[in-house]
Amino acid sequence: MIPADTILTNGTVVTMDQSYTVIPNGAVAIRGDSILAVGPGETVLSHHRAAETIDCTGLTLIPGLINAHTHAPMTLLRGLADDLRLDVWLIGYMMPVEREFVNPDFVRLGTLLGCAEMIRSGVTAFADMYYFEDSVAAATAQAGMRAVCAQTILKFPSPDAESYEAGLAVCREFLEKWKGHPLIVPAVAPHAPYTCTPEILQACAALAVEFDVPLHIHISETAQEVQDWRESYGMPVVPWVKKQNLFDAKVIAAHCVHIDEGEMHTLLHHHAGVAHNPTSNLKLASGIAPVGRMLELGLNVGIGTDGPASNNDLDMFEETRLAALLAKVATDNPTTLPARQALEMATIMGARALHIDHLTGSLEPGKQADLAILDLSTLNNLPIFERSPDAVYARIVYAAKSTDVKDVLVSGQWLMRDRELLTLDTDDLLAQATEVARQIDAFLIAREDDIVSKLLAIGELQQEESFEVQVKARLEDPARVEAMLDLPEISVDRYSHYRQYDTYFEFGPPDHYRVRYREDDFIDERDEVTGVRTRLTLTEGGKEREFANAILLSRSRYIAPATRPLRFYREYVQAESEQTITKERRRWHIDYRGMRLYVNVDRLLEPEEDGYFLEIKSRTWSLRDAEQKAEAIGELLQILEVDSRNLIRDEYVTFARPSAKRK
Ligand SMILES: [Zn+2]
Repeated sequence: MIPADTILTNGTVVTMDQSYTVIPNGAVAIRGDSILAVGPGETVLSHHRAAETIDCTGLTLIPGLINAHTHAPMTLLRGLADDLRLDVWLIGYMMPVEREFVNPDFVRLGTLLGCAEMIRSGVTAFADMYYFEDSVAAATAQAGMRAVCAQTILKFPSPDAESYEAGLAVCREFLEKWKGHPLIVPAVAPHAPYTCTPEILQACAALAVEFDVPLHIHISETAQEVQDWRESYGMPVVPWVKKQNLFDAKVIAAHCVHIDEGEMHTLLHHHAGVAHNPTSNLKLASGIAPVGRMLELGLNVGIGTDGPASNNDLDMFEETRLAALLAKVATDNPTTLPARQALEMATIMGARALHIDHLTGSLEPGKQADLAILDLSTLNNLPIFERSPDAVYARIVYAAKSTDVKDVLVSGQWLMRDRELLTLDTDDLLAQATEVARQIDAFLIAREDDIVSKLLAIGELQQEESFEVQVKARLEDPARVEAMLDLPEISVDRYSHYRQYDTYFEFGPPDHYRVRYREDDFIDERDEVTGVRTRLTLTEGGKEREFANAILLSRSRYIAPATRPLRFYREYVQAESEQTITKERRRWHIDYRGMRLYVNVDRLLEPEEDGYFLEIKSRTWSLRDAEQKAEAIGELLQILEVDSRNLIRDEYVTFARPSAKRK
């Protein structure tokens, strides 16, 4: 008789081995951290003698589920910002909050909560990607779960690294510390091609190869990403990352929603695993990954929940069911992704995608004892038909709920028995989470009330104040301006001609803040656009001072190049109202009495208005300088014979009938 520690007997054993063996009245013998034997109950019992034999009559034993892509600590950010587009959600909310709050304690607490939720839904292993991954790994090991923990590397400062070089150093230290741990496989995570540079991707691939660990990355999550890549590099994302030597490493590619046939072949050829995240892709409207085709080609596709901030749960039963359903509707074929294959993705194929199938993913002798015991005698699973043993797959994938998971073991250690968590104290964790949520709430409430900090939070404004002296007037005859520019005391340094598209986002009463998104389309003599510039300007209402002739001094302008599309700012700033003004502008940079002034002659295209408008302005930094410039501008108004009735006293906009859209 071979000694074992535990024998689980009389259960239905769903092995997920090569032949998809299902054993009614089966048994699993465990010794230490490993599976010693799997087979019919009588056979296993006749060869093994165990300290403890557990009767699993009426229960179903499956390999523990594998969550192929998540950001476990984001349990603490669940429900923070929803129903937003990916860029607004990520850049506008997740990243600023992460920069403010994410530290090793936050990560540890979030991971423990994530582990509690995953264990309860039968998950025994997951692939994580986050900051302070050392704390994720420590918390995961404390919870007793298995994980591929990948340390994030970004091209911009992250909560745990000032620069990417620092990030790489942190990652190297992390790999050195955790390599060889019985539960943790450390890994490298360049976040995504669009948040990295070629240099970072190459360095990450080299690091992963050096330590022989997986490389976890987001690939082609949105159509926009692929379109950007095609425009910038003339190719989609997968061949581009291949050029950065990414596939030298053992890649775990999360999402792959928008990859073509050629890209699938590349992933297959390089043994890359794919993590399919159906809920996250639906919730962020990223699309439906072509999983049916990937499976046909033989790619290893696992199923992931993605982070709980974009899902919003870590329930692999829900995720597996959805993966099966979505693949059917996407291929217009109900035979696509049958239940057995869906469970395979959630177990052994997920293990292959994570490059840990030598350890886990199936119930076979020699593998780690990672398993979940389900009670499928619950109302939502009944009745049970015995005609085909394979019916168990449909029961698990389509009918079972995570609440049907009764017990969970990882490496032979019980993490849950009779739905009671043995390694984690959830009452204590929840109390701590409540306190963290209170702090994040306070931070966001303060930020949402202040547009300056909101724009600074996404790095969109340069905190630079300037003053401006300016006058605006209706212009009866634009030819006078050109005549003036010919005067000997005026020299023209530069001339430009453009169409200007302004969108004003307004907050609070008039005189309060306005954010202006301005697109200048430069045009040549043939009226063709020769260049485009976009800028974001924040102006604070109220004039600082008024000189004679409606010449105003105003201040507080923060200007930065607008790096994102207008739509992003519209969705992010959530203005109370919005107005657009389009004009054709001719602008001269002139030198008059040693002063640099700008002379603009505008024609209003939207809202349409007859006639021309004049604007003369200059930047200034002292009141004395402002006075001199105001005087000079007054002289120019005289030269132009601008009638005082034509002066526009409104500091901003401006023009008589703005096309305001009130919400
Ligand atoms: Zn993700």
